[in-house]
Amino acid sequence: VPVNAQRGYMRLLRIAEHHARVVGVSTRSPWLKRIRFSAPELVESFDGHPGEWIRLWVPDSSKGGLLRQRGYTVAGFSYEGGWFDIDVVLHSPDGPASAWARAVRPGAEVVISFSRPKEHLGGTEPLTLLADTSSLPAVEAICEHLAAGSREIRVFLDAQGHDVAGLLSAPGARVVITEDPVAAFASASPQEGGFVWARLERSRVSALKAVLKAAGTPRSSVHAQAYWIKGRGFA
Ligand SMILES: Cc1cc2nc3c(=O)[nH]c(=O)nc-3n(C[C@H](O)[C@H](O)[C@H](O)COP(=O)(O)OP(=O)(O)OC[C@H]3O[C@@H](n4cnc5c(N)ncnc54)[C@H](O)[C@@H]3O)c2cc1C
Repeated sequence: VPVNAQRGYMRLLRIAEHHARVVGVSTRSPWLKRIRFSAPELVESFDGHPGEWIRLWVPDSSKGGLLRQRGYTVAGFSYEGGWFDIDVVLHSPDGPASAWARAVRPGAEVVISFSRPKEHLGGTEPLTLLADTSSLPAVEAICEHLAAGSREIRVFLDAQGHDVAGLLSAPGARVVITEDPVAAFASASPQEGGFVWARLERSRVSALKAVLKAAGTPRSSVHAQAYWIKGRGFA
């Protein structure tokens, strides 16, 4: 295994590593691959909150197979079956994770880290989700989780040029497909956003923070996280 400082730090932080085996690969769309892993011991530590995510370690072929860590949302899992799914965007240019997902076959073994990250979705106030294709699995998990309740949900989604009409499952949400979720949100009364959850490309998260600041939105009503960085690898 190549030396990898990041993995060493995670061990020091006692972030658990698990071995997982790919047991299924399917195509949700030509650009979105669903991968099923068998990892009974890891699945036992999931608590099932929407947007729960894992860190997948994948080899970077441009760096002699150095392992890189990339975040992926748990798109579904079974305690009984000991399996879980992730949906991986195959993007262009490729990165180590999308290249791995493009080529992966059942039987492949990977290391996965998991540290019980928590999602922040506020309370009962209206919920605004700003997302793109990388956070589409999280949007689906959140909408499904909240579907039984009466919470108002708005989604501003950048489909990044893809057709998501027959793909996206966001029960109970009002979905706006837009090339710029931050601009669309800004022109649709950001003062009434309720709790704002955003998972976007890094510069968009910065743009959103400026919009929210100008609208006087308290920081306690916002949870925004960069999911990828335009023009460079994530770490
Ligand atoms: C907590 C968390 C959960 C996540 N959940 C998911 C998930 O469920 N599904 C998912 O697909 N992604 C998810 N992501 C995003 C994913 O980790 C990043 O997209 C990651 O950068 C992909 O790694 P890579 O090795 O393929 O590309 P990198 O090496 O990071 O980047 C290589 C090139 O690809 C570009 N790039 C990276 N991601 C994208 C993208 N999404 N669209 C267009 N261009 C891109 C970069 O700008 C760069 O030019 C999540 C991220 C986090 C932090």
